[in-house]
Amino acid sequence: MTPILPPDLSNRLGALSELVGSTKGFMPRDEGMALALSLYNCDLDARYPAVEIGSYIGLSTIYLGTAAKLQSRALISVDHHRGSEENQIGWQFHDKSLVDPVSQKIDTLYLFRRTIELADLSETVVIIVADSQRYAAVHKGEIGYLFIDGGHGETQAHQDFDSWVPKIKVGGILAIHDVFEDPADGGRPPFELFQRSLQSGFVLTSIQGSLRVLVRATL
Ligand code: MG
Repeated sequence: MTPILPPDLSNRLGALSELVGSTKGFMPRDEGMALALSLYNCDLDARYPAVEIGSYIGLSTIYLGTAAKLQSRALISVDHHRGSEENQIGWQFHDKSLVDPVSQKIDTLYLFRRTIELADLSETVVIIVADSQRYAAVHKGEIGYLFIDGGHGETQAHQDFDSWVPKIKVGGILAIHDVFEDPADGGRPPFELFQRSLQSGFVLTSIQGSLRVLVRATL
């Protein structure tokens, strides 16, 4: 079932519908709407930023940024913009149009910036071009919201959890993408992160497709 959105969020996302449809990515509309709603429902003071790990070309950022903008909350989008393991040559989600002919590496940064500008989110989204662990080491403050959708490999996914989840304030939200209970539907690490969160003071609040949303009840 598609989530029901409050009118202000629904109207803003409706105005961006064409951009959503033309932005490459791995976020079905119903999950994107649930993602936006999960941040919209975060009632912690707006001085606690939202953080997105793994922004790719910005499809999920449109949803999160739109909710953040309504709250006057900053959304920090962290990505090295070289593509995750599964985006590299020879892997299932490789897109050769994203390879920079000079560096011969994937480069999603300019397309990401374009998405942010077209979505009128330049004043909301703080773009961080860095490995998520490197940035976690220098980002010292508490955060109100975390979306984990970075590298889906075992090591990377668990490192993202270890380095970012402790920064979430009590009452803050954790959203995890690509959680599949059945191994036949997808890789294990995001499901493992979901299980770890249930043992780390978080309570499940909503499920939409492979998206899991939890709230931090205790430290
Ligand atoms: Mg994903």
